[in-house]
Amino acid sequence: MPAPVRRQLALRIAEHARRHRLERVRVLLHGGEPLLAGPRVIADFTTMVRRAASGAGTAVDFALQTNGVLLSEALLDLLLDLNVQVGVSLDGYAEAHDRHRRGPGAGRGSHARVTAALALLSRARYRPLFGGLLCTIDPANDPVRTFDALATHHPPAADFLLPHATWDHPPAGWGNSEAPYGAWLCAVHDRWRATGQPMRIRLFESIDLLSRGTGGSSSEVLGTMPTAAVAIETDGAVSWTESLNAVADGAAHTGGTVFSHSFDALLALDGAPEDGVGSLCRLCRECPLVRVCGGGLRAHRFGRGCGFANPSVYCRDISTLIRHIALRADQ
Ligand code: SF4
Repeated sequence: MPAPVRRQLALRIAEHARRHRLERVRVLLHGGEPLLAGPRVIADFTTMVRRAASGAGTAVDFALQTNGVLLSEALLDLLLDLNVQVGVSLDGYAEAHDRHRRGPGAGRGSHARVTAALALLSRARYRPLFGGLLCTIDPANDPVRTFDALATHHPPAADFLLPHATWDHPPAGWGNSEAPYGAWLCAVHDRWRATGQPMRIRLFESIDLLSRGTGGSSSEVLGTMPTAAVAIETDGAVSWTESLNAVADGAAHTGGTVFSHSFDALLALDGAPEDGVGSLCRLCRECPLVRVCGGGLRAHRFGRGCGFANPSVYCRDISTLIRHIALRADQ
């Protein structure tokens, strides 16, 4: 992200914070791989945003989502100085992780380098920076072994990501069984409970809270509130959410940039996230689980010639998990 884009983005964040009198905003640095920006750019950007937002009386929480390969002591010292939380992508045990996370071509898997980085991040000095692990689900991987491999690093939290998919491009393994991703997550849930819930798992916690009606969702995948986030590309283009790129190239773009639009002005554009159950298809609106599921991620509803007017392509998986968690809560 070039300096002029970084400067303009800092101004837009401060403008939005001032207009809405926000006490805090959360900025997540992700990519691609954000550490490729280098320490100078990361320091420059975080300092610039905090300085701009402080004029509005707003605190800025920074977090960074990395594949871990470039984490070093020097970089962690810098992130400690800058107070930037670090989330690391890890898909479980070596074979599971290296199935997809390889170097260019048929290159070496990154599991060994990521686990070395996690050992560094787990040191007492850096531990306060450790935000959690992000694991992309692959039903070909053993769920219990995957959970145990994540738990080995004692993360404060773990998020499980459904691979991006649509009805026109269904997820791998879909159609081979009733609900492969749901069954996988149920197995992880049971292991999580059996081991005393050693880390926070937002997906499970959100289902529990929404099912009881005692709280909202902290997971983008669930609930009926629109996503309260936008993604800024390196050229300053603003996207609704990166997951919409699963629909088509450029489907995530708002049509605006940080130079042309304030964040409020973007919300007036076509394609802005819609609020509530009323924006869902009839099947979802009439579904008994809709207050919890919310029809899943918008991108996952796309296809079959109906645009977004479908249930999630993960409907069976999500409903399996919601019912499973409700059943376990009663036991
Ligand atoms: S995606 Fe499926 S489970 Fe979710 S609200 Fe729609 S019909 Fe219900």
